[in-house]
Amino acid sequence: MQLYSEADVDTSCLQDKQVTILGYGSQGRAHALNLKDSGFNVVVGLRKNGGSWARAVADGLTVKEPVEAVKEATIIAFLTPDMVQKSLYETVLPHIPQGATLLFAHGFAVHFKQIDPRPDLNVVLIAPKGPGGLVRRQYEEGHGVPCLVAIHKDADGNALKLALAYAAGIGGARAGVIETTFAEETETDLFGEQAVLCGGATELIVAGFETLVEAGYQPEVAYYEVMHELKLIVDLLHEGGLRKMHEFISDTAAWGDMISGPRVVDDNSRAAMKAILTDIQDGTFARNWVAENENGMPEFKRMMNADLEHPIEKVGKDLRSRMDWLEG
Ligand code: NAD
Ligand code: MG
Repeated sequence: MQLYSEADVDTSCLQDKQVTILGYGSQGRAHALNLKDSGFNVVVGLRKNGGSWARAVADGLTVKEPVEAVKEATIIAFLTPDMVQKSLYETVLPHIPQGATLLFAHGFAVHFKQIDPRPDLNVVLIAPKGPGGLVRRQYEEGHGVPCLVAIHKDADGNALKLALAYAAGIGGARAGVIETTFAEETETDLFGEQAVLCGGATELIVAGFETLVEAGYQPEVAYYEVMHELKLIVDLLHEGGLRKMHEFISDTAAWGDMISGPRVVDDNSRAAMKAILTDIQDGTFARNWVAENENGMPEFKRMMNADLEHPIEKVGKDLRSRMDWLEG
């Protein structure tokens, strides 16, 4: 494993150079503010009538329309939703200076060939391993969120140097920057969110809730058991892995964990994980997701509504409103 820390970074390559951030959402806002506070010259590129424009101005940043924002840029970071990056790239392409560096926080558009970058451009990835809010908060507290770095195209021999300078600017080098490839970052990121973090975890929660409610237990008790308490366990795992969780749960919980966990995540679940990974690797997932977007996202909206209308959402809303210490 190749790990870079602050000592490996030379930020002078970005001295007096412009870094353009396209998009001002979760990652865009965090990167723009951190880079500015690190002393870099930051311009944010947004649609004039878009909702983020006023916010970026209020945050004290220089804001221009995308085409204007890229004209003087040394680095152009694409921090819009993945599905918007292709058309945005095509819009700004004629205005991108020769030899500039395109930077992504997730490899989707490049790895799945939505974007085929002009040959003179460096193409790099700096992917923080955390949401934008955390990237900003950790930076303000003097820390950083670890990042991945990957180089898709090193057109001028400076791609890695520039990518690491950017990673340092957002605070990532304080925590360490691990080298990867666009393929590894994209495929593992999609697998993680589908099989474990988002898809796997929520399906597990909902199935547990339904099992208890169908067996006649109160929905409120089921909610506390399978949704609310999950955070306590995840915090232990995050801080100290399996060992820390086992130190804090009872022996009865640990015994139940070890004999029953493998009954839920069994050979069928593992085969499903492999099938999910295959769909990601062979491009099936990307093709279907791009087609769904081009179609106006009917399936996305239908499934999202079903998720948001599930009974666990109603009972959860009522119970959370009584816990005023929760951030709503
Ligand atoms: P987001 O949805 O939070 O923000 C999108 C921003 O793009 C908004 O400011 C929006 O106004 C702007 N935008 C949308 N369409 C635009 C257009 N046509 N032209 C200009 N601006 C436009 O996005 P995000 O979640 O921060 O994701 C940005 C990138 O970061 C993605 O590649 C994503 O995969 C990656 N990423 C996200 C996270 C995360 O935690 N959210 C973590 C790691 C990597
Ligand atoms: Mg789900």
